This record gives sequence, C-alpha cells and structure tokens, in this order.
Amino acid sequence: MESQTGDHPAAPRRLVLATRNTGKITELRAILAAADLDVELVGADAYPDVPDVKETGVTFAENALLKAHALAQATGHPAVADDSGLCVEVLGGAPGIFSARWAGRHGDDQANLDLLLAQLSDIDDEHRAAHFACAAALALPDGTERVVEGTLDGTLRRTPAGTGGFGYDPVLQPHGESRTCAELTADEKNAISHRGKAFRALAPVVRELLG
Ligand code: IMP
Repeated sequence: MESQTGDHPAAPRRLVLATRNTGKITELRAILAAADLDVELVGADAYPDVPDVKETGVTFAENALLKAHALAQATGHPAVADDSGLCVEVLGGAPGIFSARWAGRHGDDQANLDLLLAQLSDIDDEHRAAHFACAAALALPDGTERVVEGTLDGTLRRTPAGTGGFGYDPVLQPHGESRTCAELTADEKNAISHRGKAFRALAPVVRELLG
C-alpha cells in the first residue's frame, strides 16, 4: 500500500507495465484513464535492476503471466504484462509465440516477414486467414493473477504495404478494411487491435483488484 497522510487524498496505486516500449505505456495509460481508474502506470524502465524474464511458456497467456508475476515479485507492486503474436490458420497457428524470432534472430521484423511470405507463396487468397493475438496479465505481489485476451482477425497480403506500425503489420489486412495495419494511423489500429482489446478488457480487472 502507498502511504496516506493527514487529510491528503491517497496517492494513486502504482501499476508497473512489463515493457520498455513507450507506445504501449501511453496506450494502456489512456485506456485506464478513460475507465476513470486512478492508478499511476509506470514502465519497467522505472526498475532498471529488474532482469528480463525468460519466456518459457507455450501460450501467450502463460508468457504474459510469467512476466507479470516476475515483475510484481521484484517490485512489490501490481504488474501488467502482455504477450502477443501472429497466428496463421494454414500454419496451424504459427508463428504464434515464436512470432518475434520466426526467422531465427529475435526482433528481426523484416526477416520474419520475408520468411512468412515465402512460406505462404503457394497459398491462395481464400486460405490466407490470420489473426494477431494478445494476452494481457495482471499479477499482484501476493500471487493473485488474472489474464484476458484480444484478437484482430484478417487476411495476409502477398506483398507488404504501408510504413506504420511494426512486425507483421504491413501484411495483415483486418477484416472489413482495404488497408493493412501498417497503413492505419496509430489511433485507428489501437481501436481494433488485439492489444487494444486485451488492454481494454483489463481495465475492469484492474478496478476489481486495485480499485
Ligand atoms: P511482443 O508481444 O511484443 O513480444 O510481440 C511479439 C511479436 O509478435 C512481435 O515481434 C511481432 O513480430 C509480432 N506482433 C505482435 N503484435 C503485433 C502487431 O500489432 N503488429 C505486428 N506484429 C505484431
């Protein structure tokens, strides 16, 4: 518990987000504010001595929970972590949890994208369904945990289009859209994205456990 003195209102509860990505922090902060939640959201950068966690889980939810628990234990504050990736129907859900290192080297977006397109080169348009998936976990220092999920369904283009976003954005065209995710503005993507949906589903959970 944060300290509370005299007649001053209680300081907002601190919530730590397991990321160094300022875009993710801004997005979750806006969602929590829109839900009228009085929490102070900080990124993992606020705790530079806390080591990164090995993602040994085999689902997005397991990896999100691993990261959230590790951060909650290390900081003594409630922690949120997300884990996400691209799931391609004809590949049985791959790259899935291997999305960031599909071509071998972690975080090489261009190589990952090139490999995926090569693997799917013989696949007709009607069989190119895919979705982004995101699990968002909240863990408390006492071990309490919750996890929620969101998806963004679409189809995979044959050639990349757009310069926004990251990762597989240039090839995923959301259902009902004529543009790829990389051609959407950040606000347009957040409104429909797997991560936006998971973060918005997390707001009532934050209220339940921290409210
Ligand atoms: P993480 O959740 O940041 O670990 O994401 C893992 C990987 O999934 C990223 O490196 C991307 O390859 C892919 N990915 C996750 N979310 C997105 C997205 O919104 N657009 C494009 N690629 C994504």
